[in-house]
Amino acid sequence: MDSDSSQPPLCGKDSRRRRDGLNVRFADLAAKLFIKNYRDTNSPAVRKRYGYLGSLYGLVTNLLLFTAKIICSFIFALETLRADAINNASDIGMCVLALVSVFIASRPASKQHPYGSARFEYIGSLVIALLIIVLAGSQVVDTVTDMIASGGLQPASVDFASPSFYVPFAVMCCSILIKLSQYFLLTGLAKRSTSMTLEATGKDARNDSIVSMVIAASLLLSAPIGWDIDPITAIGVSLLVCLSGISIIREAASAILGTTPSNRIIKSFADYIRQYPLVLGLHDLEMHTYGSSVIHAYVHVDVDASLPLMTIRDEVDHIEKETERNLGIRTVIHIDPILIGDPETDRFREYVIEAAQEIDPDIAVNDFRLLHNPDDAHRILLIFDLILPYDLLSKEKEVIERVKETVKSFTNLTVNFSIDVDDRTSDLLLLLEDDQRRHEEL
Ligand SMILES: [Zn+2]
Repeated sequence: MDSDSSQPPLCGKDSRRRRDGLNVRFADLAAKLFIKNYRDTNSPAVRKRYGYLGSLYGLVTNLLLFTAKIICSFIFALETLRADAINNASDIGMCVLALVSVFIASRPASKQHPYGSARFEYIGSLVIALLIIVLAGSQVVDTVTDMIASGGLQPASVDFASPSFYVPFAVMCCSILIKLSQYFLLTGLAKRSTSMTLEATGKDARNDSIVSMVIAASLLLSAPIGWDIDPITAIGVSLLVCLSGISIIREAASAILGTTPSNRIIKSFADYIRQYPLVLGLHDLEMHTYGSSVIHAYVHVDVDASLPLMTIRDEVDHIEKETERNLGIRTVIHIDPILIGDPETDRFREYVIEAAQEIDPDIAVNDFRLLHNPDDAHRILLIFDLILPYDLLSKEKEVIERVKETVKSFTNLTVNFSIDVDDRTSDLLLLLEDDQRRHEEL
């Protein structure tokens, strides 16, 4: 067992402040001011307040930016600021959605929606993304039409002392600062409360701050260039906004289809369950996500078959409850009793593993059992699952036959088999292994 597994790994308090970035320290400061018991990030109520704090800050500041930019864009006829205002409108939408989904995700499940309503946020973000793409797209069309009507780019007549320069320039400088503050606060809060919505909104704010820098630079540059480059920048900004809309749609669509949780969550979960002495092994892990904060997990756990059933039952109940309390993952544990210290079972398991690995070292063997025929001491039955890598799935029958032959060649007993075949997607732990190996190879 590694030293990390003794503490709740997802939101461990002891690991606080060890590798905290600037954003986390900034978020801690804000949390200290506005959230009661802000250190208790294991509590759903506290995590909910982290969510509210982040999305409210985003909502208020984006509303300010949107209003300032849209007013400026009309007074000074600046297409760029209108394009960027549309961008902020999408951020307002995302913050409202984050706010609503924090509320909804915390609402208990109902009869119609036994897994809660947290997946609502994916549908919400789809709608917002579609709206933004339409708005930004029409901004591109408008700007191009205007440019053609006025006969291309106009010579610039920038007067740095006139309000038509310094007001929009000041607005964009504030926008840079506010967007950076959103980035630091939201990603920091997201790290503390493990919220995907906050993290996505925070990362988007970092990109927006870069857009604001480009716009401020273009306002400055119009004078030395001698041409009014506002329409060009406006088209560029609108296209970027379209792209971010498309990436929101892609993420939401993939979340609706059902994605695997991050490796970090899978590893924390496995490490957490493995720390219990009852758990001798772990396999066939499945996780289903509902929204960004509700995860249901199903896992098989190997336990000592000689333990009394009631002891196992009590301990498994305890593990399930503690996992939900500490990691927020609702868990169902299936028990696989295994015989410990039975030389015959051990020997035949070794035979099967050896036979399988001879074909491909990536074949895993799960749920191994050995049964004796009560009428004939020379007949045994081996029951197990073979988990095949993808490239072997088409050769399933061949693999089974080879494993049977090899195992039979090791013994003079009459061996019968009952073999189930699965692929590696049936077990997130194997997918995690594949991923870690790929990382090591890089
Ligand atoms: Zn099993």
